[in-house]
Amino acid sequence: MEERRLTALPETVEQYQAGFPLLTEEAVGNRTDLEEGELFTLEAPDGDFLGRGYIGKQNKGIGWILTKKENEQIDEQFISKKLMMAISRRGNLLASEETTAFRVFNGEGDGFGGILIDYYAGYYVLQFYSLGAYSFRQQFIDILTQTMDPAGIYEKKRFSDDQEKQQSDFVSGNEAPAPLPIKENGMNFAVYLDDGAMTGIFLDQRDVRKTLRDEWAAGSTVLNTFSYTGAFSTAAALGGAVSTVSVDAANRSREKTAEQFRLNEIDMDSQTILVDDVFSWFRKAASRQQTYDIVVLDPPSFARTKQTMFRAAKDYGRLVEDALELMEPGSLLIASTNHAGLPRWRFRRQVEQAFKAKDRRFRMEKQFSLPEDFLVNADYPEGDYLKVLAMRVL
Ligand code: SAH
Repeated sequence: MEERRLTALPETVEQYQAGFPLLTEEAVGNRTDLEEGELFTLEAPDGDFLGRGYIGKQNKGIGWILTKKENEQIDEQFISKKLMMAISRRGNLLASEETTAFRVFNGEGDGFGGILIDYYAGYYVLQFYSLGAYSFRQQFIDILTQTMDPAGIYEKKRFSDDQEKQQSDFVSGNEAPAPLPIKENGMNFAVYLDDGAMTGIFLDQRDVRKTLRDEWAAGSTVLNTFSYTGAFSTAAALGGAVSTVSVDAANRSREKTAEQFRLNEIDMDSQTILVDDVFSWFRKAASRQQTYDIVVLDPPSFARTKQTMFRAAKDYGRLVEDALELMEPGSLLIASTNHAGLPRWRFRRQVEQAFKAKDRRFRMEKQFSLPEDFLVNADYPEGDYLKVLAMRVL
């Protein structure tokens, strides 16, 4: 196939020479003639080769550069090499009986932006972030099928918002049971591979859940906000928490959280599951003067409910202030955000300012970023999106 030749504007040459993998609209002068999935070579104005990649429009870019070697082609052999490399890096996780769900291929972190692959107890879930990325679908599926003997394969098209949601995500092999039980550091979780964009567990919080269970939970009362399927509550209960309260606005969270407790044989009498808006619930709890030994904050980057609108980049401080109303000296705040557009230093400053506003002090106990299977591309730090602060209230 003829490759499209694109010329980078002079002011962008340096960033591409340094290895930046995202092709931006501005870098090539806002062209409108590029087609999804099309291969391109990027050149400097003087004709120097800068990289080769594919066109695929997703939120911040219009394509991904995949190689900086002029003689390297983007073909089945290239994809196979990237995939095999990614798999060999996860040897420990693939062999583990304690952990059977993790990320196998992390987009640009594993050398191919726009495509993620997660492993769930023998099944593979591919996520495509653009129509262009989706054009490599069959090659990824073929290589996985030939080399990994998958129990089954699923795919999520994260680029299409035409909600043809009746359509199944199942691709090949056997269909997974629903729920599919998986293990993470010995904990049990129920996942659903064919139930919309999310599977029931956020695999990037694995290290935080383990630390909560092993180091912090024993003997504590735990409040888990934006609790989704109650994964943090489960970890806390298994770590010996005396009680957990899970709060999420979605109705589904009640049944899904109860399911995780059952699966782990957790005593239901000490667990409370509330379907409520976190912000209005905080006001009710503060008026009751309720306090908790551990508070987990893990909101989405953006959220709107009937009552409230939340944007992590602006409103996280307010959330921390609300939480501090329910915390006494000695208690632990676990503040998490997955907002890629919020730099670590700014997030930390927001949280610190909230402590100041409430006239409280803290000791930083631990900080987390992405776990080892969520490989980050050193030339694309934006991919390092997870920020978790564990702060002891003094
Ligand atoms: N902490 C969870 C993941 C959170 S996903 C985990 O570790 O598994 C974000 C969740 O926030 C969703 O379940 C969504 O229903 C919930 N949510 C969004 N806005 C909310 C609000 N204002 N009040 C309560 N829950 C909210």
